[in-house]
Amino acid sequence: MTTVTLGKTGITVNKNGFGALPIQRITKEEAAKLLRKAYDGGITYFDTARAYSDSEEKIGYALSDVRNHIYLATKTAATTAEGFWKDLETSLRLLKTDCIDVYQFHNPAVCPKPGDESGLYDAALKAREQGKIRFISITNHRLAVANEAVDSGLYATLQFPFCYLCSEKDLELMEKCKKADMGFIAMKALSGGLINNSRAAYAFQAQYDSVLPIWGVQKEHELDEFLSYIDNPPVMDDEIRTLIENDRKQLFGSFCRACGYCMPCPAGIEINTCARMSLLLRRSPSHLQLTPEVQAKMMKIKDCLHCGHCMSKCPYGLNTPELLQRNLKDYEEVLAGKEILPGNF
Ligand code: SF4
Ligand code: SF4
Repeated sequence: MTTVTLGKTGITVNKNGFGALPIQRITKEEAAKLLRKAYDGGITYFDTARAYSDSEEKIGYALSDVRNHIYLATKTAATTAEGFWKDLETSLRLLKTDCIDVYQFHNPAVCPKPGDESGLYDAALKAREQGKIRFISITNHRLAVANEAVDSGLYATLQFPFCYLCSEKDLELMEKCKKADMGFIAMKALSGGLINNSRAAYAFQAQYDSVLPIWGVQKEHELDEFLSYIDNPPVMDDEIRTLIENDRKQLFGSFCRACGYCMPCPAGIEINTCARMSLLLRRSPSHLQLTPEVQAKMMKIKDCLHCGHCMSKCPYGLNTPELLQRNLKDYEEVLAGKEILPGNF
């Protein structure tokens, strides 16, 4: 079994973390079954967030009796000390624990520091003193904030998007974390569903011994795949290398990662689905994207006010309104009979 140690935290777990965002979309009992199967299969790192609606509650429900055998990581998106304490107390209650192992600032626009105006870092220090959290950590989608967090020396771990579509700068960040003895947790290891080959995704992560990928799983068969990799980890071979090269050609650059930071949209457009529809049509079963419900979502793009709010909030610097229009054009062509082929959009 391959294990990963999260830098100076000393937390050592097998190289499969459980990303608990998708369990919001299934029932409490279904989630409990999945979480329990993950635990029984050897997964001991569970990552959630206050922002993931009932995900924390489901984890508390499913795993409180094995609390001492697992690591719990959650996140607060609070911008004030008051909000921090409210979130922390709620998370402790829902997770049914008196201490969170890895407590993360959730994608802050600026890196919290001791003595700053927000009071967030000082609140985290106090929470650690009180034994309510073990490690102060951070997640981010922005390279600049992530680099600042590593350079500050204030954080035990960084959670950052990291998959085989990542750039040289992302790889440098990961190496810098390792040198700083800081844990590196890879989110979006399947790039929001656009990477559809878990063997290739795993083989990429397996090349980096300091990286802990957290897989966002919602279905049992997805979990089964990752559990099978605990004993039989896929390795990078020529077949996987070719697949990755082809995916990089098709996906690298200006594609929407579905993070949702640009939302809500004042025109009610579900940007994190609609802005990547051309890819979803080609990389997932296309009939699921052509239902009347999805068609209605796509037609909402016509209501775009071109206010630019989405673009100003996108951490990947995407021209979101333009991307939406391109996806709509392709979608309408597909509805009119265009054949769905890789890259014909
Ligand atoms: S530019 Fe269009 S899609 Fe973006 S936030 Fe404004 S209305 Fe929504
Ligand atoms: S457009 Fe940007 S911010 Fe919005 S979901 Fe896509 S990647 Fe995220």
